[in-house]
Amino acid sequence: MTYEPVQTRYKTMKYRRCGKSGIKLPAISLGLWHNFGGVDPFDVSRDMILRAFDLGITHIDIANNYGPPPGSAEETFGKLLKDDLSAHRDELLVSTKAGWGMWPGPYGDFGSRKYLISSLDQSLKRTGLEYFDLFYHHRPDPETPLEETMGALDQIVRSGKALYAGISSYNPEQTADAARILKELRTPCLIHQPNYSILNRTIEQGLLDTLEAEGIGCIAFCPLAQGLLTTKYLNGIPEGSRASKPWGFLKAERITEDVLKQVRALNDIAAARGQSLAQMSLAWVLRDSRVTSALIGASSVKQIEENVAALDKLDFAPEELTQIGGIV
Ligand code: NDP
Repeated sequence: MTYEPVQTRYKTMKYRRCGKSGIKLPAISLGLWHNFGGVDPFDVSRDMILRAFDLGITHIDIANNYGPPPGSAEETFGKLLKDDLSAHRDELLVSTKAGWGMWPGPYGDFGSRKYLISSLDQSLKRTGLEYFDLFYHHRPDPETPLEETMGALDQIVRSGKALYAGISSYNPEQTADAARILKELRTPCLIHQPNYSILNRTIEQGLLDTLEAEGIGCIAFCPLAQGLLTTKYLNGIPEGSRASKPWGFLKAERITEDVLKQVRALNDIAAARGQSLAQMSLAWVLRDSRVTSALIGASSVKQIEENVAALDKLDFAPEELTQIGGIV
């Protein structure tokens, strides 16, 4: 059936400015790491992306290696863009990345100019996009000089293959160095993509301060700790869940009794707030105005709807924050 987006799509979503840039991002963005690959039913992936767009989610995050098989999430998005969203290309901010292993040999991994530029060319082919809005270096490279990697991001932006540059999983010192080099090249770093959730608060130890000082936005990945910060694992590992899939990145060993004890206690606080645990966890990530967007994953339309409804209650009483901090 021909897709017609709902007219109200920009009425309810909250948009936040990304650092000191011209870009605003939806407070909830959608990532295609899991559930959008060649192994997944295309119709479900399609329904999720279109429902997200109807809810005002204008930012879709991909990477060269998302699938499985690697590259297939970009193909899924490309097909959808062609069939359903081509008239809305300019309403979307689409990102991809390179930095993890993508093809064999010395040029398909880490942070060389050779890898980043050839990977981006492949990503453009797979999606059929003329350009990405945002291109990330996916993880720091301990061997390649940072000047080369940042030089590649600058070259990519200047060539028009991406409009903005970003970095992911860089620590505060690496971030400050990258920001300085990019500033010198006059291609400022738009955004940083770190792991951030109630269960992983590392970025509070310096990174958020660095981002604020540099005027760089922050989009938090795995805000639900891959599904741990929901009630789904309280009674075992459900069939079809991420932890049940051999290619899923959430390993069953991570779901210990200690973690479940924390999840139960957090769930009690969420219930007292009148929210699901997923909703409270997203509101918690967004409580810091330096976090531009919470980057969720999903396996159903229902999850996306529930997660976007987190925006109905973002404020926390100081006692609630203390209680949450005490549990983890
Ligand atoms: P989340 O922490 O949001 O976990 C998403 C998973 O949680 C879903 O697949 C689903 O699991 C479950 N879930 C989501 N909403 C609900 C709900 N309301 N109720 C119950 N379960 C729910 O994020 P991801 O781990 O998926 O990561 C999000 C994005 O971040 C990725 O797609 C990617 O774009 C980016 N990312 C970037 C990284 C980087 O290095 N830069 C690393 C990792 C992610 P299930 O499938 O079991 O239903």
